[in-house]
Amino acid sequence: MKQVQDYFGCLVFDDKVMKSRLSSDIYKSLRKTIDNDEELDLSVANSVAQAMKDWAVENGATHYTHWFQPMTGTTAEKHDSFISPDADGRVIMEFKGKELVKGEPDASSFPSGGLRATAEARGYTAWDPTSYAFIKDKCLCIPTAFCSYGGEALDKKTPLLRSMQALSKQAIRVLKLFGHNEVKTVKTTVGPEQEYFIIDKKYYDQRPDLIYTGRTLFGAMSPKGQELDDHYFGTIKTRVQEFMNELNEELWKLGILAKTEHNEVAPAQHELAPIFSTTNVAADHNQITMELMQKIASKHGLVCLLHEKPFKGVNGSGKHNNWSMSTNTGLNLLEPGATPADNAQFLLFLVAVIKAVDEYQDLLRISCASASNDFRLGANEAPPAIISMFLGSELQAVLDHIETGKPLNCDGKTFLKIGADVLPPLPKDSTDRNRTSPFAFTGNKFEFRALGSSDSISCCNIMLNTAVAEELKQFADILETSKSFDKDLHELIKKTIIEHKRIIFNGNGYDQSWVVEAEKRGLLNLKSTPEALPYYIAPKNIKLFTSNGIYSETEIHARYEIGQEHYAKVVNIEALTAIDMATKGYLPAISKYSSSLAKTIEAKKSLGVDTTYEEYELNTLSLGLKNALAVVNSLKDALGNVPEEDVAKTSLYYRNDILPKIEDLRTVIDSLEGHVSKENWPYPTYGDLLFGVR
Ligand code: ADP
Ligand code: MG
Repeated sequence: MKQVQDYFGCLVFDDKVMKSRLSSDIYKSLRKTIDNDEELDLSVANSVAQAMKDWAVENGATHYTHWFQPMTGTTAEKHDSFISPDADGRVIMEFKGKELVKGEPDASSFPSGGLRATAEARGYTAWDPTSYAFIKDKCLCIPTAFCSYGGEALDKKTPLLRSMQALSKQAIRVLKLFGHNEVKTVKTTVGPEQEYFIIDKKYYDQRPDLIYTGRTLFGAMSPKGQELDDHYFGTIKTRVQEFMNELNEELWKLGILAKTEHNEVAPAQHELAPIFSTTNVAADHNQITMELMQKIASKHGLVCLLHEKPFKGVNGSGKHNNWSMSTNTGLNLLEPGATPADNAQFLLFLVAVIKAVDEYQDLLRISCASASNDFRLGANEAPPAIISMFLGSELQAVLDHIETGKPLNCDGKTFLKIGADVLPPLPKDSTDRNRTSPFAFTGNKFEFRALGSSDSISCCNIMLNTAVAEELKQFADILETSKSFDKDLHELIKKTIIEHKRIIFNGNGYDQSWVVEAEKRGLLNLKSTPEALPYYIAPKNIKLFTSNGIYSETEIHARYEIGQEHYAKVVNIEALTAIDMATKGYLPAISKYSSSLAKTIEAKKSLGVDTTYEEYELNTLSLGLKNALAVVNSLKDALGNVPEEDVAKTSLYYRNDILPKIEDLRTVIDSLEGHVSKENWPYPTYGDLLFGVR
């Protein structure tokens, strides 16, 4: 039997392979580029390309691609084969340094927002050597960043790398103040937990709504849902387990640290969690994981749904972004330390995150805003749309003590000893858990829980890294000129707590009273994507991104426009699909069944038999058909009146005038499902979809 340790990472051009296949000079030079973000020399690139191609061909690859993450939310790849004709009319396999380092895909068909004019036709992709190349489906995939010819970012990776650099630069400044002159880089780390649904392909194929929109636009709840809590951590069904086994194997071959798998709360729902890694690698790995989940499921006659809310009435799927900062010397900056100085440093990084989340709540909300995630946030299955932070009672007690100077109530808990006069001890192993908070401290990292299952993790990490970089910059500016470091440090921590404590909420985020309380505190409650997106272009946010070198003003506007347009398009597709299914599927089927009831009534009457049942059902269905027709027509009218002069107005219109009508249509049709016989109902039911895998 194959052992995992023997094949783990076998499809990755990783450090071990580089070391064995590159000369030691070339290897050292490439390592420098990877570790210190230094530029790559073309002669080095040529040697690397040659070695990479030889390795890829030996492992079955025939093509290569620059693999990138345009603003569609998925990944893009255009395959080129290695073949090149030789003098004898045969072919050789060839791959040059410049093909490795730079590609020139046609950029005109990717979303570019206002950048379209400058993105005309060509864009270019540039190798991100910090994320290893890998082989997928006989193709050597080279992780790249995607930019326009003018250098504007057209993808999610470029700004992510910029935000990681910004954070590293500022964190190093702060660490120097604590005597850590040895630190060369600070990298943010992420472990994304991924939820998904698995359903039977034979039912999926009969549901146009799942095919076109990823979610069910119709469907009455089955007699059983998630109420018995019997699916969470339940025994995994054999077919699903076989899928998971193959998925794990393929992920491991790609060096992806798939660790935990289990059944989730809703029927047919599951989760996969990897071990954390550097953020850009985690982002690449999460994209590959989502892609492989879908591909491998279909090999097993299954379909993996990554939509945030595929089924009404049971929990939807999210993604948890576990985030921290680590030095190249192996220090986790969000790990409470063992010495007084370490603890002071921990507290400074902690309050930087608190200030960042408070000042840029809007950006974190935007980072998880999508038409599909709008169904989850605030619906008591995911955190509310209000961004707040959970610290846990022990850490909270420490912050209260710093703020008020009142003695710390230790409650018999174990505290680490600390010798400094001005800073209190820190609790050891703060393991408090609060599942309802969007942003929770979990001992040595923060967990951002508002993300949707299909989201790329890039966006939230761009927001988070940039905001924290900004706060660290402000802190370093103050402390670098301080004459009395300990005192000023204490004052800075205290001031930050006082000014930003409104963002901390340790209670139940699902409770209605929190909505009221949050409003009193002046926290934002951006319930939908069209309401959240305008904050992208708020002056304070433009300043944040431009001054930290993450986005130019044009790039921010482009992202804002793409977000708004995307929202409107998604709801438009849903509306068209709902009309299509109603007019071609449900209504004709109900009508046909009605006429069979009418015939039965006629026949029975001629025999003098009671027809109460048939007449009751026929009346119900006839009234339902009439109501459904009215909603279909009103939805069609509304689609004919979409305002088009301004993206913000368009998306708000889809939110307020189209979405409720799609829901109205569903309500009418779902109410008729119990009045039509199973064989006359045109589409698979919730029972089939949620419990159909056996
Ligand atoms: P939960 O209790 O939320 O289900 P899990 O233990 O399943 O948590 O997942 C926690 C995730 O956090 C894992 O992916 C883990 O690798 C990740 N993680 C642990 N430490 C760090 C860290 N320092 N930085 C980022 N992620 C981390
Ligand atoms: Mg979690």
